[in-house]
Amino acid sequence: MSRLRNIPGSREIIAMSDFVVHDPEKQKGRWKEIFGSDAPIEIEIGMGKGRFLMDMAARHPEKNFIGIEMQSSVMFRAIQKAEVRAMRIQAGSAGPSDSGSGQTGKNADDFQVLPAGVTEGRPSIWEGCNFRFILTDARLLGDIFGSGEVNAIYLNFSDPWPKERHGNRRLTSANFLRLYQQFLKPGGTLTFKTDNQDLFDFSLEESEREGWRLEAVTRDLHADAKLCAGNVMTEYEEKFSAKGNPICMMKALAP
Ligand code: SAM
Repeated sequence: MSRLRNIPGSREIIAMSDFVVHDPEKQKGRWKEIFGSDAPIEIEIGMGKGRFLMDMAARHPEKNFIGIEMQSSVMFRAIQKAEVRAMRIQAGSAGPSDSGSGQTGKNADDFQVLPAGVTEGRPSIWEGCNFRFILTDARLLGDIFGSGEVNAIYLNFSDPWPKERHGNRRLTSANFLRLYQQFLKPGGTLTFKTDNQDLFDFSLEESEREGWRLEAVTRDLHADAKLCAGNVMTEYEEKFSAKGNPICMMKALAP
């Protein structure tokens, strides 16, 4: 991905954001309390700037969503987008996506997050908001979610780590698939989208070898009306499909 440069002050903004769950290990086994509801919890690992996660949350008010991202500069952008959504909701012009300009006339990227400590006029999380973010490396998720606490996992355009010796850093490698089983409900789903054919082949092989049951597989999601129904585009998906790259998708059931 085009890496965002380190943004001065982003750590402080993240630390004061209501959208971010701080000390997420303390919530292990008690995530329903965060949302105040028994709705199923779905997570996206490597959410980037969070567009997919927030669009899913807007489309599915009957579920709760948690976005995991390890880079603070990227998390900062996700918070900006969430704050713009909060402004739109408060202004009564909330839509499922932040890609258009709402009644506020602001886009997420030009929204100024106020410096730490300044709260006046700052949009905040709204009652019933059904998404949150966690700043962490996916490797630590076993300390954050309890057994059976997560109903579905989404991996979108995960980093490919093409070198053989980095294979176990891929989010669809056997070691990660075993980690997901620690907190994914039996029969819970893992949905993976990518335009990278090699990574897709690797992911199919790893999940089959680990005993996951493939429920859906396509190498051209956008050409498959049935599988594409209800598809929520990610930022990378939009970028790569605009270049003409077919999008691969697999949905696997946990063993
Ligand atoms: N999912 C978004 C999309 O489709 O537009 C962003 C895709 S971007 C290529 C991958 C993101 O995953 C990056 O923001 C990266 O920081 C994050 N990521 C990679 N490895 C991760 C890990 N082990 N834990 C948490 N986030 C990770």
